[in-house]
Amino acid sequence: MLVAGIDIGSTATKAVILADGRWESSALLETGANSQRAAEQALEEALGGAGRTRAELAAVVATGYGRVSCPFATRRVTEITCHGRGAAAALPAARTVIDIGGQDAKVIRLDEGGLVTDFIMNDKCAAGTGRFLEVMARRLEFTLPELGEAAARSRQTVAISSTCTVFAESEVIGLIALGRPREEIARGLCESIADRVVGMAQRVGVVDEVLMTGGVAQNPGVRRALERRLGVPIRVPERAQYMGAYGAALIALDLAGLLR
Ligand code: ADP
Repeated sequence: MLVAGIDIGSTATKAVILADGRWESSALLETGANSQRAAEQALEEALGGAGRTRAELAAVVATGYGRVSCPFATRRVTEITCHGRGAAAALPAARTVIDIGGQDAKVIRLDEGGLVTDFIMNDKCAAGTGRFLEVMARRLEFTLPELGEAAARSRQTVAISSTCTVFAESEVIGLIALGRPREEIARGLCESIADRVVGMAQRVGVVDEVLMTGGVAQNPGVRRALERRLGVPIRVPERAQYMGAYGAALIALDLAGLLR
């Protein structure tokens, strides 16, 4: 049985195709200005990668902020439910999930059965999200992977006092002018994200095992800064950015079973 999950995020749209519950293919592209078109393209790309057609899909579940404008979804499910489901499947021992995406950050608590028991989400402000790092990477003339690696490598850090993206960018310009090494600034920026997310995490409580998902999970500087603050190791699953789409696809599989 073929099913699909689509996560139409603020920054990236991800699609995952499962065949009889197994990961068959996936696609990731920028959401851009037209989230409906991004969803169509991501689905077509993922189906193409698997050599399948849309007619073969038994169910499609859409999630992410753009899910409301996904016309071909069998069902639309919240991000929290889909990310929780994907994370629990990727690491059944996970009890805390930290997901940092393009324009939001969330911390989800799971019980032993992988069900969501509590969560907290910041989607009001770019501070503490991937967008913050994108702006700063441009300013530092780093790619996103370079920024993460430089931050993880740096032994020194500089305090970034502004949490607001606009003010923090001015602060970074000032630090560059003072000749502070780029990797120290990069580390300071990752520490600043970690501070914000740990503040959120403490409100729902952090229980081991901790799993990090979302695009920013690929940034080792943020992951290490979180580990230092939380005092526990953080696991990053393979394909961390796809966990919402993967969870959506698993829910589509349940749904397809019920629809049969
Ligand atoms: P959303 O679902 O909100 O669109 P994602 O979970 O797809 O967000 O994450 C998008 C974010 O991931 C981008 O804003 C970017 O900062 C970050 N990102 C993507 N690729 C990388 C990478 N290779 N290294 C570090 N960060 C990355």
